[in-house]
Amino acid sequence: MKKITKKLAAALLLVMAVSLSACAGKDTDETPQTPQTPTVEEKMFTPGTYEGVAKGFHGDIKLTVTVDENKITEITAEHTETEGLGDNAVDQLIASAKEKNSLGLDLMSGATYSSEGFLAALEAALLKAGGDIEKLKVKADEAETEKEDIVLDTEVAIIGAGGAGLAAAVSAHQNGAKVIVIEKMPNVGGNTIISGSAFNAVDEKRQSAQGIEDSIEKHYTQTFEGGDKKGDPELVRVLVENAYPTIEWLESLGMEFKDTVFTVLGALWPRSHKPVEPLGTGYINTYMNYINENKDDIQILTETEAKELVVSPEGRVTGFIAEGNSGKVTVNASKGVIVATGGFGANVEMRDQYNTIWPKLTDIKTTNHKGATGDGILMAEKIDASIVQMENIQLLPMGDPETGSLSGNIEQGVENRIFVNSSGNRFVDEGARRDVMTKALMEQENSTMWVIVDQHSYPTGDTVNNFNESIDSLVEQGRAFKADTLEDLAKQINVEPENLKKAVEAFNASVDGAKDEFGRTLFMDKIDTAPFYAGARVPTVHHTMGGIKITPETRVVDNNGVIIEGLFAAGEVTGGIHGSNRLGGNALADVNTFGRIAGEQAAKN
Ligand code: ADP
Repeated sequence: MKKITKKLAAALLLVMAVSLSACAGKDTDETPQTPQTPTVEEKMFTPGTYEGVAKGFHGDIKLTVTVDENKITEITAEHTETEGLGDNAVDQLIASAKEKNSLGLDLMSGATYSSEGFLAALEAALLKAGGDIEKLKVKADEAETEKEDIVLDTEVAIIGAGGAGLAAAVSAHQNGAKVIVIEKMPNVGGNTIISGSAFNAVDEKRQSAQGIEDSIEKHYTQTFEGGDKKGDPELVRVLVENAYPTIEWLESLGMEFKDTVFTVLGALWPRSHKPVEPLGTGYINTYMNYINENKDDIQILTETEAKELVVSPEGRVTGFIAEGNSGKVTVNASKGVIVATGGFGANVEMRDQYNTIWPKLTDIKTTNHKGATGDGILMAEKIDASIVQMENIQLLPMGDPETGSLSGNIEQGVENRIFVNSSGNRFVDEGARRDVMTKALMEQENSTMWVIVDQHSYPTGDTVNNFNESIDSLVEQGRAFKADTLEDLAKQINVEPENLKKAVEAFNASVDGAKDEFGRTLFMDKIDTAPFYAGARVPTVHHTMGGIKITPETRVVDNNGVIIEGLFAAGEVTGGIHGSNRLGGNALADVNTFGRIAGEQAAKN
């Protein structure tokens, strides 16, 4: 085994270069030799410029690819992928394709469809250039490269570069520690970057300007009771009391939130903050900006997957062993290891193993990125950490019928939309808990519903939803329907027009104060102004509330209730904060707050 080598140093630099904010300006001097580079006699391509087109997430991705005899020299792209996510994936893939001179690239987590579309378009162009597609698809790490085991020493080591892991990295560094973060996917961000981004916090400044009455006590009660009193009261208290200080901390790092708060689905109260940047990109960009400014002290290794925690004979966690592209990576951490690997929403086997509250979940899609496979829970379980409340799996009634993703959702806050079933009838309080709404949806025909909104939600056609998609583009893609009358809308979506009209009339009467037949209490505008819009939604697995048991200081506890020295956990990998149902908007509050605490605690350990 070797200590840090030249090769690793290059890998670390590469990782920093592909981080979200830095992907455009990569230094190609670092380019490693790839196994595809042929000898002079075996030319790879016929030099020239070629086009390739394939379907991305929102439409065609068109690539113009220039090659010389042996190398991809330039790629330009025309596309309409989601700003802040799909477009980042395309930029990163352009950089990697040029650098690796290859089609053997990993899909960017959270942007699978954009990545697949990119690779198909690149393949089409390289085929025209006379490239050997099968050879080009071989990944550099699958080809015969020299493997080299490495050992890294640091103070705080973090597994997972989603919101919790990156918050912990920044906070550990602010508290004086040297930090290494490893991430198994090719890009950082985890579920956080593709989340709806709402962050619940009691916020005197913003809420009082909107005339909203709120208190820490109310946030506590709604969180605790909203989870059927199954959450750990101490952890709930830490969450609600530290949520707003975390917003202030993020603002101190340069993050911007909008001036108004809203009620995200299942939040039960208007205290959800929305970042200015789309989706969860604001959180990740904020952390990555800080990390890039402190590269000497915080290293991130992507495509490096933690496999097991290392425990000393005295029972202290001293590091972990991971698998990287170039071999085994052993990380020793003198102050502590923070597990921030997220939940298991994308691990169908684990979902099936633990699910006791829902009908079979095997065929239900998920909002999660594919790295959400519960690894941290399994690693911690192996060293006798206490794992709690694994049966508490959260579903949303808001999945895209094709992908399960939250994209394409046309609701803009809870107050201004209703849900109707395939007959055009309402069936639930649309301001209720997430589990209540999802269970009600599962009882409707095909478990499918329509979200109905009007011009109040989309004053103009270019108004965007939470996923940064304009309503016009969704209508154009056939993912939303638009009409000047409710009757026409009903016909387009094939529901009974009279039922839809009655449902909307009753809702409008409730906005004026009439009692709502489903007990709904959250209202703002009537649905009475054309254009009217409808979008289909189905149940989707969203969040796993069970996981590693922690103390309020984020220390991991074993099955005898004893603290495991040197081990911390934060974010969705932890269990028992939210009980049986997590309020909408409480996940990012949790992930960022407990990540911040974990970083500080580990640095001071
Ligand atoms: P949280 O919201 O709690 O931060 P996320 O899902 O946003 O959770 O991020 C968790 C991150 O951890 C993801 O980027 C995921 O790919 C990464 N991850 C999961 N398992 C491993 C592992 N075994 N090794 C390294 N990274 C991992």
